[in-house]
Parts: sequence; C-alpha cells; structure tokens
Amino acid sequence: MKPTRTTLKIGELATGQDLELPIFQFKPDSISGPSVYIQANVHGAEVQGNAVIYQLMRLLENSELLGRITLVPLANPLGINQKSGEFTLGRFDPITGVNWNREYFDHKVDVAAWYVKHSHLADGELIQAYRAMLLEQCQMRLTNEWGVTTGHQQAVMLQQMGHQADIVLDLHTGPKSCKHLYCPEYDAQAAALFSIPYTLLIPNEFGGAMDESIFCPWWQLSEHLKAQGREFAVPVSAFTLELGSQERIDLEDALVDAQGIMAYLSHRGVIGERVAPAKMQRFGCYLKDYKKYHAPIGGMVEYLAQVGQPLEVGQPLANILRLDLYGSDQVLSSLAVTLDCVPILHFASASVYQGTELYKVMTNVFEF
Ligand SMILES: [Zn+2]
Repeated sequence: MKPTRTTLKIGELATGQDLELPIFQFKPDSISGPSVYIQANVHGAEVQGNAVIYQLMRLLENSELLGRITLVPLANPLGINQKSGEFTLGRFDPITGVNWNREYFDHKVDVAAWYVKHSHLADGELIQAYRAMLLEQCQMRLTNEWGVTTGHQQAVMLQQMGHQADIVLDLHTGPKSCKHLYCPEYDAQAAALFSIPYTLLIPNEFGGAMDESIFCPWWQLSEHLKAQGREFAVPVSAFTLELGSQERIDLEDALVDAQGIMAYLSHRGVIGERVAPAKMQRFGCYLKDYKKYHAPIGGMVEYLAQVGQPLEVGQPLANILRLDLYGSDQVLSSLAVTLDCVPILHFASASVYQGTELYKVMTNVFEF
C-alpha cells in the first residue's frame, strides 16, 4: 500500500509564502491495531530522522498494516532552512530564542475535577472523552484571540496530530552522539524493542518536549485513577529517539533504525508480520543519573572520550588547549571523570566558553 500525501500549513513567512509540512499517511481499510504518529527534524540540524522515515515508508509499503500510520518528516521548515555559513542552526526559534522542542503545550489538566464528571465512563469511553478534551484544549490554544508565537503555533499543531495517535515517535539526534532513547518509566519494556543501545528512563515531569506533552496528561490520569482504586494503564506511548549525530544522513544506518521501529510496531500489533527486535546489549539509567559535564574553563577542546564507550574513574574525557597561556603549566588542561560512566554525547564545536555542556554521561548504568 502506498501512503497518501497531504500538506499542512503551519505558518507564514514575512514575504507571504506559506510554511508547510508534508504529511504521509498509511490508512488500511480495516483497522484493528493502534494508530501511530512519527515526526522528524524538529531541530533543524537533526536530519537523520528523515532518512529513517524514508526507509520506514519503503518497509511499510510492503507490510500488512493493522493500524493507521502518519509520518511527518521535515517538521520544522523554518529551522531546517536556518543556515549560517556551512552550518544549520535551527535549534532555537530565532525570534524568541526558545528551543523548538520546549514549545509544546502544558495542559495542566485538573485531573481530579475532570474525573469527578467522567468517573461513570467505562475505560474505552473515558479514553475517548479525555482525548477529545486534550484536542479541544490545543484548538483553544491556537485560536486564542491574542495569538501565539510562531514556535508555539507550530508545536501545538504537531501536538494535535500526536494526540490523535496511540503511539508517538519524535525522531531527533544528539550533537555528536551515540543512539539513545528517552522512554517514560511506565513503558520501560519498550527499550528492549528498538535498535538503540542506551535508554534514559524519564519521570512524569513536563519540560516542554513533544513526548512529554503526549504522555504526561495520560500518566497523570492513570496515577489519579490508581489512587481512586481503579486500575487504568497509560493508554498512549511516546518516545524521543536520538539517532546519532546531527548534520548527518546515513541511509544504511537509517534502515537499521527503521527495522527497530518495525520491531516495536510489530510488538504493538500495528503491523501483521512478526519482526523480532535486534539481538544486542541494551543499557540504561534513570534521568536523575544523566549528568552534564560543564567546561571548567574556556578554550579549544580535544574530545577524547568516545560516545557509547564506557569510561572508568580517572580515564581522560577531554583536553582543553589554552594557547594564550603558552609557556605556563596551564596551556593544556586534562579533564577526567570522577566516577564510572558512559559518555552519550558531546558538544559539536571544538571551541567552548567556560560553562558549556561539554559531555552528557550516564551514571549508575544497568543492563536491560
Ligand atoms: Zn533534537
């Protein structure tokens, strides 16, 4: 089956042209499985997710589809086109400075009050009513008489598409990074399905990201119902997949990740055929154990620790070269970690201010 293609207008340029997103949709005639929403490239330089969507669509065309699948590559046209010299900026809205992936709407649902009015509903109807309420809140946000910022409008329109699905995947990359998955704690078993070696287990806290904007309201509902003595599993799944480094397209590697996504979709009954997850070691840590190492001084950086390679106490992380101090013993500073960890990503540039997030590392790592 071929996907249908439509476009969604998400904004307008100063010269009047529309900002549009391409939307591809696989809609099987009879639907028995959950629905899926996948987007890529919300951060302008993080292009690999488009290659993954390309490979995934080719696989899906020859699959037995049981659920509706919506794919939105190139999800941030303004960010993707925000070039400067050889580089793509596109991490922050150029007008407001806000990170494009911190723009999603915080529903702040008063779950207790909502549930008082809806407690008589059976699970299926409850899900329908809650979803309708989330979609209506997004719509009210977008039609607010005072308007909203460019970035927020784009984000809430993406969020509306996400809320209509049972499974949401937001495809990103790190700066210089190994593959890692952001996975909510309630869905930890999903970490064993994707072709991703490292997983961060995240708590029920809204920080403005797409995945959180989808699962946080449902997780709150599930917790509230549990407190009322009603078992209610969180009915949506949302993950952020960090698929390597920015400014990189690798079609062969994209096929590996597309197959990992197929294994997840197979497990969830979105596709009919059985796709086994890749056999690989998978590790993870809790978000509280994901540490940022900030540059203690400014200077030129030689990144020594390889991403995805475990590091023991005392092993070198990076060198910082300060040529202005040539002739003193401070010309070269060697940085080392003070505990066992796994470097997951590092800053993209070789020149840094003091205080730059040099590396992000996992500590208290466990195997899945
Ligand atoms: Zn990103």
